[in-house]
Amino acid sequence: MTSTTQKYFNLLCELRRSYKFEIVAEESQYDPVISYEVPSREESAAFLEFLQNELALYSTRFINRLQIDKIILGNKIHRVDQPIVGCASMSLFPDSLPLRVLFRKNTIYLAADQCNTVDGRICIHHELFHAIEAHEERWPKYFDPIWPNLNPRAFRYKEDSLSNESYENQLDCDGFLSSYSMRTVREDKAELFSHMVVNFARVEELASKDKFLRAKTQRMKQILKAFNEEFDESFWRKREQNSLNGTAKISYEQLLLRKLQDALVNEELSTQESG
Ligand SMILES: [Zn+2]
Repeated sequence: MTSTTQKYFNLLCELRRSYKFEIVAEESQYDPVISYEVPSREESAAFLEFLQNELALYSTRFINRLQIDKIILGNKIHRVDQPIVGCASMSLFPDSLPLRVLFRKNTIYLAADQCNTVDGRICIHHELFHAIEAHEERWPKYFDPIWPNLNPRAFRYKEDSLSNESYENQLDCDGFLSSYSMRTVREDKAELFSHMVVNFARVEELASKDKFLRAKTQRMKQILKAFNEEFDESFWRKREQNSLNGTAKISYEQLLLRKLQDALVNEELSTQESG
């Protein structure tokens, strides 16, 4: 067995043993709306190592609580004809095994071609947040009456706004990190969580100048602490200390709304573009 194959199978076994989910990396599974290309074994082995490192930021107990049944790796993932870097398909009844099996739910798709990128890291934690939400003790599921009140009064999520034009006008609005976070309450929360996990120092810096973002960061900490004790201040201090730095900074900043991008990074970007 080649060393790549050995590494691939070792990672499959380790992840499965720790987290009890199935990993689908070598076959194309039919889904009515999701399509993707099957990654090579080298790509899958590299991605599984990347995934293992990201999951290790949490306790095994916490990941097991999310009851993820399946992680599917793909390249060039599309939902209908839109390219996406990931997608979480969680059942409305995540704790009911028969319904999960019937609807093939609690599945997370991840883009193997985003291995070791900032976008790939953000995506893993973003999808994990959708899994967290599926287990929160609220009914109706995913409905959070408090969150929208933390936004500036005039703001409407894209899903709730009547025209694209009014949505475009809101890109300058305070309280958001990315344009994707302006789509719905769910995406806003998943985006904020993933950026807090990957680059907490930068989120704190932005929140120090933006009271809406500050309130949402506080609320996110409360939600997580209520969900699982491990999300305490020491978890966040650790995330702060391990925030992105160095070369990854430019690609991180590109994920943010234009108005939030660091001035210094913008300079570097324009030099790169002209060079
Ligand atoms: Zn999402």
